[in-house]
Amino acid sequence: MTTSSPHIPADVAAHVLSHFGRGGYPAGDWAESLISLIDRADMANRARLANAFPDYGAAIYLAKYDEDGITTLQQIAGLPQAPITCTRCRDTDGPFTAAGLCEACDQNTPADSIR
Ligand SMILES: [Zn+2]
Repeated sequence: MTTSSPHIPADVAAHVLSHFGRGGYPAGDWAESLISLIDRADMANRARLANAFPDYGAAIYLAKYDEDGITTLQQIAGLPQAPITCTRCRDTDGPFTAAGLCEACDQNTPADSIR
């Protein structure tokens, strides 16, 4: 087992997602308190808590600091993925540009003329 990527069980991912309001389901009182404590800890204390509770520590790190962390946790928890949508018109038809725009928006079509 490596300390850099501890195994995150599905229930831990669901608990942490729930704490951050991103799906999943709430932990019990004790575990929710632990998540809250790790979430609020300063760097030194977060590291100490994550050392004692590597699964929760890793899941909270993903939720707070990893760009794709929420998606990763949702995959671990077995939650359905939200579809990729255009950042301008919210359409789900791809392909999308690097800026997150659909082809129509990328060609500067006014959003209200698309539908
Ligand atoms: Zn669009």
